[in-house]
Amino acid sequence: MGRYFSKIIKNGTLVLENGCERADLGIRGEKIAGILAPGNELEAEEMVDASGLTIFPGGIDTHTHFFEPGANYREDWLCGTRAAAAGGYTLVMEMPNSSPPVIDERTFGVKYGLAEGRSLVDFALWGGAIAGNQAELEKLSALGCIAFKGFTLEAGPEFLWLNHQQQVDAMREVRRLGKVLGFHAEDDAIIRELKARFQSQPWDLRLHDEARPYYGELAAIQNAITFAEHTGCAIHICHLSIPEGAECIKRAKARGVDVTVESCAHYFLLNYEEQFASGTYGLIQPPLRSRERMERMWPYLMDGTIDYLGTDHAPYTKEDKEPEDGDGWQVMGGAPSIDIAYPLMVTECLKRGMAPHRLAALCAGNGARRFGLYPEKGVIQVGADADLALMDLDYPWNYTRKNSFSKTKCTKFPYEGRALSCRVVSTFLRGREIYCDGEILAKSGYGKFVRK
Ligand SMILES: [Zn+2]
Repeated sequence: MGRYFSKIIKNGTLVLENGCERADLGIRGEKIAGILAPGNELEAEEMVDASGLTIFPGGIDTHTHFFEPGANYREDWLCGTRAAAAGGYTLVMEMPNSSPPVIDERTFGVKYGLAEGRSLVDFALWGGAIAGNQAELEKLSALGCIAFKGFTLEAGPEFLWLNHQQQVDAMREVRRLGKVLGFHAEDDAIIRELKARFQSQPWDLRLHDEARPYYGELAAIQNAITFAEHTGCAIHICHLSIPEGAECIKRAKARGVDVTVESCAHYFLLNYEEQFASGTYGLIQPPLRSRERMERMWPYLMDGTIDYLGTDHAPYTKEDKEPEDGDGWQVMGGAPSIDIAYPLMVTECLKRGMAPHRLAALCAGNGARRFGLYPEKGVIQVGADADLALMDLDYPWNYTRKNSFSKTKCTKFPYEGRALSCRVVSTFLRGREIYCDGEILAKSGYGKFVRK
């Protein structure tokens, strides 16, 4: 009798949907084919020893920026997806606001053409919902865009933001298409006014929060919820930074609004007080908030209000972050984290008493559910893709971006030097080990396009 499993990962602890289990994992081809009692005598073509390791589902990053096409001197599909694999991610959902942005069939083709053949991990593509491209959304949906993203405030000349009525119109269309509409939610009028008011003062990280205040984000979230309630569209709030927004979303969910919310590691770990000296390297949008607000985000992560974690990975160079004229008001918001966010959140969440399977839901399972990829993606169970992040939960080390696979390795961002107690030892995508111990083991292009 031939061997049934192509691979068995032995002696590890599996993070399953309802809890952890000491068990062996049988893989057949690209799929998980068995969860096996420890001590079984089964054999496979390849045996992997995971003694001492905890096996999480491969991470799903709901919010990735690779800047390709566009500013691919900062990051690109080749390097960015290697950094993702090293960080335990097996699927990235890449954002449409590149240059050109993904707003119609042609620009979708440009992005797809770059990702296909270069991506090491599986990838999904967000489509852009901008002012004036409503007629293109149906086509983009048919091409396989996983969801759509719009901005509720000025986002540059290429990615035209949606005013209130345009948000309603986009929601009607996205609802008809059966997809999810995500928002970068900050109020345009408030931020436009405050930026003009503050710009004569020298920029700093605290002023950045004041110029893009919590109530600007909250107002945009409340509006989006009102419009979602009216249209019945499924919406997603990107990178939530404020507890007030979480409370508002919690109430909306309770009365049946189809809203989910993403947040990011940095809104739980960083704040403008402790990171003040990072200056423009800590400049992201929405801003890092106060330490007190950061602390108040945690209960909403613990109680399940926050559905999933994205990275908002967006590396910039020293030249981007330190312009010659020194004017911080003109600096682009963004920071890298795809190489570190997953083990960072494992470190911090376990310290705060979160069960590993709840964390796995935040980093993989819940995103897969929301975007229609469950149960093929995001969970360790028989029949699912064998997408895995093998972690050592007892491994103290300090992060440096010097060793990142990212295209740019600027070491001035806030996570530099940060202490972790956990590391990604190896990453499997569809049954194949693509990363182990600092080395990339699969060819770029192994990642495949994923659609609902
Ligand atoms: Zn983003």
